[in-house]
Amino acid sequence: MTKTVAILAGDGIGPEIVTEAVKVLKTLQVSFGLDVQLEEGLIGGAAIDVTGVPLPPETLNLGKRADAILLGAVGGPKWEPLERDIRPERGLLAIRAELGLFANLRPALLFPELANASTLKPEVVAGLDILIVRELTGGIYFGKPRGIRILDNGQREGFNTLVYNEAEIERIARVAFDSAEKRNKKVCSVDKANVLESTELWREVVTRVAKDYPSVSLSHMYVDNAAMQLVRNPKQFDVIVTTNMFGDILSDLASQLTGSIGMLPSASLDANNKGMYEPIHGSAPDIAGQNCANPLATILSVAMMLRYSLGQMELADQVESAVQQVLKDGLRTPDIKSDDNKQTLVSTQEMGDAVVAVLRAKL
Ligand code: NAD
Repeated sequence: MTKTVAILAGDGIGPEIVTEAVKVLKTLQVSFGLDVQLEEGLIGGAAIDVTGVPLPPETLNLGKRADAILLGAVGGPKWEPLERDIRPERGLLAIRAELGLFANLRPALLFPELANASTLKPEVVAGLDILIVRELTGGIYFGKPRGIRILDNGQREGFNTLVYNEAEIERIARVAFDSAEKRNKKVCSVDKANVLESTELWREVVTRVAKDYPSVSLSHMYVDNAAMQLVRNPKQFDVIVTTNMFGDILSDLASQLTGSIGMLPSASLDANNKGMYEPIHGSAPDIAGQNCANPLATILSVAMMLRYSLGQMELADQVESAVQQVLKDGLRTPDIKSDDNKQTLVSTQEMGDAVVAVLRAKL
């Protein structure tokens, strides 16, 4: 049966990188028999400009109807002066919440060809393969009450609430343990249980869930130590499971282990593996419109979509190996280029074309 994929390009470099990922999807459609129908929608600043809101009802309906969503990125300086409630980023938080996309899977995989692109020594990062499982629809980004209030003395006070219930913790823990069973069978749960009661409960529930997964070993780590360990000895980790905000921060940190934020894809899944797929980076306004953004994180997000939501494991492998091939061939966008003269500097569009060419050559 034909599956529907919603294409939400968003802002900044979003349209440029999504164009390249769509080229890959269309190649799979035309040449590899992938039975999908692509439907475009507006989100973020692009949606605000046309409709006044960051997540118009048509886009939400498209998201609900679709089997999977491919998203570029949202946000940019143009929309920063707007009221917080109608800023582009609110559209993203809203679609994640409305679709119940509670499990954010962020692999940090170092392609051997990029070992020198990391700021860390190659021996520290070579062979790195971590999966960060971030809770996405709870915690401090959603907790209420929240806001900025005026105190009796006239000063303003900003406040947010970090809240997790047992069911929310249990379901994300299960995603982490299920993933670890298919990998190296290690879960490290990251919290701040020494200071925050909500993560004291987090630790207790994760420990309880672990009993259902006897083949997986569980460890716990405070977030400050985890940040240090990720830089000191990242290869000690297999699956990391953590809260919304800690996961947000640690996965950006992990991106640098792999060379560039432009290489890292992500999947945000609901309880039935319907998902939204997006690079972990933002809209990069500093390089938008210059045809120099790295589209590989978005193309690798297509691979995750094929694997998790479209049930096309073989095509997912093909896309990932095509990405590896273009890196082997020495093609580099500026973010991953070193001064090795065997490398060729390419544009966003040329990188997308190269991946498509490798895929076509496999026919
Ligand atoms: P960012 O991820 O957009 O950019 C950080 C740095 O990484 C920049 O120097 C940028 O040029 C570079 N970079 C990012 N993606 C790249 C790519 N594919 N290729 C090459 N270089 C790349 O983060 P930021 O600058 O903090 O945020 C910019 C805007 O994006 C803000 O409005 C922010 O709210 C938004 N944002 C959106 C998302 C999302 O849509 N999921 C995530 C994070 C930030």
